[in-house]
Amino acid sequence: MSAFQSVSGKGQPAATEAYDVVVVGAGFAGMYMLHRLRGQGLSARVYEQGGDVGGTWYWNRYPGARCDVESMQYSYSFDDELQQEWDWSERYAPQPEILKYAGHVADRYQLRSDIQFNTRVDRAVFDDNAKSWSVATSDGKTVTARYVALATGCLSNARVPDIKGLAGFKGKVYHTGHWPHEPVDFTGQRVAVIGTGSSGIQAVPVIAEQASHLTVFQRTANFSIPARNAALTAEEREAFRKKYPEIRRFAREEARNGIYTELPDRGALDDGDNERRAKYEARWNRGGLTFMAAYNNLALDKAANDTAADFVRDKIAEIVEDPQTAKLLQPNNHPIGSKRICIDTDYFATFNRPNVTLADIKSDPIQEILPHAVRTAGREIEVDALVLATGFDAMTGSVAKIDIRGRHGQTLNQKWAEGPRTYLGLMSAGFPNLFIITGPGSPSVLSNMIVSIEQHVDWITDCIAWMRDRGLDSMEAKQDAEDKWVSHVNEVAQGTLYPQANSWYMGANIPGKPQIFMPYIGGVGVYRQICNDVAAKGYEGFNMEAAEPLKRAAS
Ligand code: NAP
Repeated sequence: MSAFQSVSGKGQPAATEAYDVVVVGAGFAGMYMLHRLRGQGLSARVYEQGGDVGGTWYWNRYPGARCDVESMQYSYSFDDELQQEWDWSERYAPQPEILKYAGHVADRYQLRSDIQFNTRVDRAVFDDNAKSWSVATSDGKTVTARYVALATGCLSNARVPDIKGLAGFKGKVYHTGHWPHEPVDFTGQRVAVIGTGSSGIQAVPVIAEQASHLTVFQRTANFSIPARNAALTAEEREAFRKKYPEIRRFAREEARNGIYTELPDRGALDDGDNERRAKYEARWNRGGLTFMAAYNNLALDKAANDTAADFVRDKIAEIVEDPQTAKLLQPNNHPIGSKRICIDTDYFATFNRPNVTLADIKSDPIQEILPHAVRTAGREIEVDALVLATGFDAMTGSVAKIDIRGRHGQTLNQKWAEGPRTYLGLMSAGFPNLFIITGPGSPSVLSNMIVSIEQHVDWITDCIAWMRDRGLDSMEAKQDAEDKWVSHVNEVAQGTLYPQANSWYMGANIPGKPQIFMPYIGGVGVYRQICNDVAAKGYEGFNMEAAEPLKRAAS
């Protein structure tokens, strides 16, 4: 019997609190991971700092929060019964509905019994002799596990900016990424929203309907495409469901971003002005992320990109009545799509409301927060509530909060001090048996997250089963494989326009964070094939070995 098998108790946690796998996080990644591990007969414990499942959808409860990938696609595909039975109400489901879906999945597969909520993983230390991890949690306990899977999410570490005086503000301060569970009513209040990324752009139109006055503090204007959200009819749902086999196959194998859509076969400069404008107009009217799929070179060729950027800038000028406000709202310092494109409902039109003002903090930066006002160099704007839509320490932020120690006591934070380094985005050399789900170096945030989550979880659980069948207990990325992968990830990114933007993809939104392009931009289908080939070659680029039997922790 392999050491591995000695730990596993047919899906039951061992009395000694030794598990085959500890999973960190119970969002969509952690939930599916648990489901697959159970299916392999492995014991798993999931720790989740929130009070329930849902991950990003548990925390991001701000007004207007909804998905920017169509819900019929932003949903699990692993069980056809599940996708056939769940009824999405709208093209882009609102946050409460996505959270309800997460809860439904937890109920359907009885996941909660193996999830410990309201518990953080504080530390994970690898024992090289036992080939296992010792995992310490915020409830003061320590368990051991052969493997640790980080399902910590890429946008889960909300970032509160270091603005002078913020702590002394007398009104309520909210962060979009950490919104209260009880309803927030801004009726009659003077509200400030700081930040105009996807979260701010979704929240602004809804808050504007309640607030007596809303001031939007914009440092960088962003490109946004209308969502054209609408209720889904039973016929539309049915049509989707019938096509699911092809839609899901395409999203996994052929799409660049895990979304089923037409693949463009022309570049933007291959069409004349009128034809091009008509194509953009059609995409604008259809709405959503696939605007960027109008042509095949918008992410690659600046001249091509400019045509799409000009089109959106013209639209902003058409929608926004005050020319000065329109000009400020027109993005002009990055190629369209090189920052995550935003998807909105009436964002630009909201600036035509008499109770909404745009404050340009690029030219007149915020100096400090006073007890009842935001003070810029030029003026003081009195407010009752502050909404920080200031984003996240993306992709690495939540991992960095855990004290992870691999071989020879090296911490992951030390290793990633110059930026994250992984092989395939799945493992980092020096940290055996530590898997990262949708980590840096994988398509991750550039894709429909659920497609990428399912791919990673399937790959990881298949890999663990493969090792078990061969009596292997330890797996680690080889240094040279990792180095080559990191170079490849950088090289592919450099061939695109993405590095031209100061985006969170680059770590540029966090002062002092090393700036490298973190996700893999080679495409979801290409990446899946690479991962499959690696597995087919006996997990090429990884070292695998057998260990002494894992000692059970004293009961
Ligand atoms: P974000 O894109 O990072 O935007 C943060 C905003 O806050 C930016 O406008 C930024 O300005 C501003 N900001 C940050 N620090 C500031 C400071 N000290 N002073 C003034 N302004 C400051 O964050 P996000 O909007 O939360 O979105 C993050 C990602 O989450 C998205 O890109 C998307 O992938 C995901 N998301 C998705 C959805 C969806 O599915 N619909 C919704 C929300 C979020 P600068 O640009 O100048 O730094």
